[in-house]
Amino acid sequence: LDKDDVVLKTTGLEKAFGGLVATDDVSIEVERGTITGMIGPNGAGKSTLFNLISGFYENDAGHVTVNGEDVTDLEPHERVRKGLVRTFQTPRRLEGMSVREAMLVGPGPQKGESVFSLFFSGSDVTEEERANIEQTRELLERFEIGHLIDQPSTDLSGGQMKLVELARAFTTNPDILLLDEPVAGVNPTLANDIKRFIRELNEEGQTFLIIEHDMPIIMDLADPIIVLDQGKVLMEGSPDEVRSDDRVIEAYLGG
Ligand code: ADP
Ligand code: MG
Repeated sequence: LDKDDVVLKTTGLEKAFGGLVATDDVSIEVERGTITGMIGPNGAGKSTLFNLISGFYENDAGHVTVNGEDVTDLEPHERVRKGLVRTFQTPRRLEGMSVREAMLVGPGPQKGESVFSLFFSGSDVTEEERANIEQTRELLERFEIGHLIDQPSTDLSGGQMKLVELARAFTTNPDILLLDEPVAGVNPTLANDIKRFIRELNEEGQTFLIIEHDMPIIMDLADPIIVLDQGKVLMEGSPDEVRSDDRVIEAYLGG
């Protein structure tokens, strides 16, 4: 791959928890414009790799680059500013916040100045704040949850929370969006909606790296697919190549 076509790259990433090597010399590239899938049996190290890429875990060795820039030493919120945004397998509920407020905090652990200025500025809403509120409304409508804008986020169903999480991820216009099991625990109707949103966004140019347990969904959405097993990259290929690879079948059966 030409380096300009690579949004995200990891080189020799390593992470151990005590004696357990959860990420073992992982070097991957995500090409701009793709929906790249990531699969692997339970405990393969998928979420750990996401945590290393997004800066929530500190790595033992290796590098992460975004658009060719080394972000290995940056905090999660600094990586967000470089265009790398992730969602969580289990979205954290934002206690005491409405959907609107959660949206205005944006993705990841951020300082939330925009929210505080919004709370305390009374009627003196600045141009920027007005634009943020408008963007929030548009994003929620795009994900067909505009009607939830004033709901307390603690009142949402798991599926609705996933959609809010997805909408929040877009508040910063990411170059690459990492989704950890976007349809896990979501009812089939909503899962199909989420799949449709991902596909539409991708057609508009959004790059994704998606961990997903649901095989039919990830095989249908993603190309290429990276297979992790025991912390290592087992293989990478098209859905057909992955489906018919003996090592993949063995990893799942043996797991
Ligand atoms: P996956 O997402 O593929 O199911 P994980 O990345 O969650 O796998 O876990 C990979 C391995 O690392 C597992 O054996 C898991 O128990 C271990 N692990 C993950 N996070 C931690 C942690 N914070 N502390 C200790 N062990 C961990
Ligand atoms: Mg996981």
